[in-house]
Amino acid sequence: MPISPSLRSVRIVLTAWYTTLLVVAFTLFAISTYFYLQSLLLQTLDDDLTGETEWVLKTLAPRRDTAADSLRRGLLPEAIQSLLDDHFIANPRNYIVMIALRNGAILYQSEDWANLGPPPADTLRHRPAFSSRNSPQGGVRTCVNWQDPYIVQIAYPERPVDLALDHLSTIFAILAPLVIVFSASGGWLLAKLALRPIDSITDMANRITAHNLAERIPGRDVPDEIGRLIRTINNMIGRLQQSFTQIRQFSLNIAHELRTPLTILKGESELALRKQESNDETRQLAGIYLEETVRLSRIVDDLLTLAKTEAGQIKIQHEPLEWDKLVREVFEDAQLLSSSRELSVALNHNDPVILTGDSARLRQLLRNLVINAIQYTPPGGSIGISSVLNGDSVEISVRDTGIGIAPTDLPHIFQPFYRSERAHHHAMGGSGLGLAISQWIAHAHGGTILVASTQPGGSTFTVILPVRPPHLP
Ligand code: ADP
Repeated sequence: MPISPSLRSVRIVLTAWYTTLLVVAFTLFAISTYFYLQSLLLQTLDDDLTGETEWVLKTLAPRRDTAADSLRRGLLPEAIQSLLDDHFIANPRNYIVMIALRNGAILYQSEDWANLGPPPADTLRHRPAFSSRNSPQGGVRTCVNWQDPYIVQIAYPERPVDLALDHLSTIFAILAPLVIVFSASGGWLLAKLALRPIDSITDMANRITAHNLAERIPGRDVPDEIGRLIRTINNMIGRLQQSFTQIRQFSLNIAHELRTPLTILKGESELALRKQESNDETRQLAGIYLEETVRLSRIVDDLLTLAKTEAGQIKIQHEPLEWDKLVREVFEDAQLLSSSRELSVALNHNDPVILTGDSARLRQLLRNLVINAIQYTPPGGSIGISSVLNGDSVEISVRDTGIGIAPTDLPHIFQPFYRSERAHHHAMGGSGLGLAISQWIAHAHGGTILVASTQPGGSTFTVILPVRPPHLP
């Protein structure tokens, strides 16, 4: 039968194994104890019966001369008869007795012998011989012993043996569910204790991202399997951290190296554009160069910013700033930028707010959102900005009637270099770094960015910033 995935837990498998093994061990113990006790009790009974038959034979032996007489009369001498009566009738154990001669003549038998009959033929080959037989009073254990010319049979009910075995079975039946409950809960607890470090390793490994590679799973100084696993994972995180640092440094170096040639290219293109002697073709070419160089410079700047944030090299200023003034400036920029694209930009609401933060970075954040809105809204669309003070935080939203973001793209748009398929077709200029940088700036101010988007319909990016970042005194 296939096991459901929810049951495929090491803890459940260990518990099941532990319980099964304990139940099997208990069953084996119960069965072997049962049969051992049975044979022990029968052996004791057999020893008793042997003793009794031997006593009878010993009592009859000195009177062997009377055998002929007894044979003839089919009777025992009276003295022996009363000796036997005294021994067996007065005996509290209630033995069932029969004494016969080899030829079958019965010399003595207790009252309740009648139904047991003569000894089975095969029992006369050994001395003494035992058999379990049925009688109206239930099962009896019979011992047959002989010494010519007498055959002595003594039986005793097996009921005491059966009773003892029944008691034992009852005890095992009561213990069985306790053993199952004990082994299942014990197994569950043991598995939990043994696997607890694995749970904390899983939690920790889940928490590790590119941003907290300095963290390590708390180690155990025990050189067992778990200890080795923790050391191996920590070493792996260490190697990853080293690689990430190298990659970040590499990105930083490349961005730095590219800046100078791009600045030179930009200057040369501007020069060629302005030169009197340049013909139309040269000017057109210079225009294209300038446009591409500006685009490349923006990408390199974004790359440098991102690489520096990841390397922890950017410090955020925390100074009081007039947030509403900053919003208005970004709005005015947006009006300028959108003028050539037939878009209407409106500042719907702008509460006066004094906010503690880094004005240059916050301006960059707002500009990224506004530039995206302009870039991804086709001509004729509209963009609305509104900034509202909401208790201890300010909420600024940039709403557009643009191309919108597909639900499959939404979880990824804040990842560096992620650009949706439609964004590629719609706007050529992007690098896919703007939102990653914006999110970093929002987080650095203790805030968040939320996005809601429909296709068609447009997108709304909302930034929530505490007026006073929580980590400041
Ligand atoms: P890009 O330079 O490509 O604009 P961003 O990081 O700013 O890079 O944005 C990442 C992606 O998010 C964009 O490529 C685009 O797919 C999507 N996006 C961002 N803003 C908008 C918007 N206002 N409307 C539609 N899509 C957007």
